[in-house]
Amino acid sequence: KVVARFAPSPTGYLHIGGARTALFNWLLARGSGGRFLLRIEDTDVERSSQEMTQAILDSMHWLGLDYDQEPYYQSKRFEVYKEYIQKLVRTGHAYYCRCTPEEVEEMREKARALGQKPKYSGKCREACLQPGPDTVIRLKAPQAGQTVYQDQVKGSIAVDNTQLDDLVLERMDGTPTYNLAVVADDIEMGITHVLRGDDHINNTPRQLLIYQALDVTPPFFGHVPMILGPDKKKLSKRHGALSVMAYKEMGYLPEALVNYLARLGWSYKDEEIFSLEDLLQKFSLDNLGASACVFDTEKLKWLNSHYIKESSPARLALILQQHLDASQPVPAQAYLENIIPLLQPRASTMQEMAEMAHFFLVPDQELEMDQKAVDKFLTPEAREYLREIAEILAGMEEFDQENLEQAMKVYIEEKNIKFKAIAQPLRVALTGKTASPGIFETMQVLGRESCVNRLRRVQG
Ligand code: GLU
Repeated sequence: KVVARFAPSPTGYLHIGGARTALFNWLLARGSGGRFLLRIEDTDVERSSQEMTQAILDSMHWLGLDYDQEPYYQSKRFEVYKEYIQKLVRTGHAYYCRCTPEEVEEMREKARALGQKPKYSGKCREACLQPGPDTVIRLKAPQAGQTVYQDQVKGSIAVDNTQLDDLVLERMDGTPTYNLAVVADDIEMGITHVLRGDDHINNTPRQLLIYQALDVTPPFFGHVPMILGPDKKKLSKRHGALSVMAYKEMGYLPEALVNYLARLGWSYKDEEIFSLEDLLQKFSLDNLGASACVFDTEKLKWLNSHYIKESSPARLALILQQHLDASQPVPAQAYLENIIPLLQPRASTMQEMAEMAHFFLVPDQELEMDQKAVDKFLTPEAREYLREIAEILAGMEEFDQENLEQAMKVYIEEKNIKFKAIAQPLRVALTGKTASPGIFETMQVLGRESCVNRLRRVQG
């Protein structure tokens, strides 16, 4: 049974790359009825913060990536790491080393000068030193042979052991190093599969050596390729390297982001739209791609538009509330639910929808008018039509789309004018702009009172 984990370091917000790693591990576990665990790698006390940890938890929650049991916190598990390190010392797989950082740097320099891989020389390997205040503990790594594994994404990977160091497991201050802590935790948590970004690919052979020394079968490893910007360079903020919560604030729906992230490095036939349910059924390691993926904001927007169209107005109304101008009175849920179907086909983010909804929500007297549109369409003649139309609207019995259309038809026939003569003037007077949803549906949702007020207001 699969046990996967997501192991973020809370030294920054959860960004797009991290969220994708979390999603892949979640899919791998949940798709096969396995377990998914969360481990907060907060051993770097200086750079980690509670705020970042909270942001990671919030992001996971928003994306719908639930985990089994309470999160593990590495900062609370130093005893566990000590035990693992001591076991390695006892079994002769680790040793105390008293070389100073300067000495180690000298060894590296020497190796470099000889054209070799810069590394620790192994000076203290056979010195049988006792622990002291100035000792670190190093792994006694094999000095010949290869470390080989089958990467679940990149295929077979082999590294000559001569390229690897006797890596430090415990620092002088008694704290464990990153690779040791990861291995100890992955063993303790019973992890069977590790999917992570390929920025970790150099750690994997080192971790494998620790597994070997502990005589424990390692999990399967897979390294997913980096996400690049459209310039084919490391994804920058400008090109979308933002936090998950920033996407929420910009008005993306979580299912759109999940769908988008899933397709960054994973594919299934030539399908693009995947609900979480689909992903759970279709996700497998076989379809993970090994080459770098390019972030494409337009595609994310396209998916978001799709999910906006698919969502219920009731749900969108709740989300829309969070995007509305906080200085305006909070509109009634029912009113928003009437507005939203008009905007669903048009908005690609909820932020955009909030902007489009603005004219529905402002008090009639505060509606801003696009001056260019006013100059062009609210001619004295047009204003006269609008004055008459206001009276017609005030006297109508049923104020709905159908009757409005009928009433306007009668009006233009009486006046012997084209619909064009009133369409844009109406739109500009009612919405302040030249683009809006269909004029009759807009009028119905605005309601009689607002329509009449707004048409009278342009009389000056
Ligand atoms: N904590 C590491 C990171 O945030 C992940 C380590 C791992 O997945 O093994 O990059």
